[in-house]
Amino acid sequence: MIRLLNTIDKSKKHFVAWSGGCDSSLLLYDLCEALGKDNPPIALSYEAFFLDENKVKLEKEYRAKFKKELEENRDLHFIYHTMTTSISIDQDSDPKWGWQGLAQPVLFLLQFLPIMPNDAVLHFGYLKSDDFGVLKHEFNKMIYYINKIMNKNINIIFDFEFITKIHILRKIDKLNLNSFVSFCESPSEDGKICGCCGPCTSHYTAIIYDALSSMAVDERINIIHQIKNKEEIINVVNN
Ligand SMILES: [Zn+2]
Repeated sequence: MIRLLNTIDKSKKHFVAWSGGCDSSLLLYDLCEALGKDNPPIALSYEAFFLDENKVKLEKEYRAKFKKELEENRDLHFIYHTMTTSISIDQDSDPKWGWQGLAQPVLFLLQFLPIMPNDAVLHFGYLKSDDFGVLKHEFNKMIYYINKIMNKNINIIFDFEFITKIHILRKIDKLNLNSFVSFCESPSEDGKICGCCGPCTSHYTAIIYDALSSMAVDERINIIHQIKNKEEIINVVNN
């Protein structure tokens, strides 16, 4: 991204919170390009114990594929660490669901920040259109207090905050990285996407909006009518 390439402080250590999804993988790619081999970015992945097992397994495979592709075919380099937590503070809660909401950001911040140097930068591929938007304020507060407690001055940058999903998807496509990113929250065991989770929906909504915006008004109205008719049919069938 233009902002990254122009303004990045190359004297600092740059970390990326990397899931293996479209946003964080593109962010990592951009940082590799911007920083080069001498001060490569450090990708930190967190395997949350309450997430879908297939998702965790698939993301891990995609991250390995992504790293191999960048290193072997594009001469782009980064350092990669994976972390996890095996304890649950609240023993009474269901380990699968007891940590929802703020859980993932809390857990990965508590893991990432202590191992980062004093004035490092943590890049986070959050888009304003993501569900995470409502948590950004709390997230920033957490970083402030963790920094205070640890006497550190770690800066967090939301590089993609004002970038739209379709912009990310177009760039992933242009870079031929589609087969190296994973985004579904509950894929099947053999890696097929579910098509209806949050990330699947936002992925396809972006593509549909993009397709609609390039159509003539008449065409758009026609498609909307077709969708409406389909809903009526579904309602009749369900009732
Ligand atoms: Zn899905």
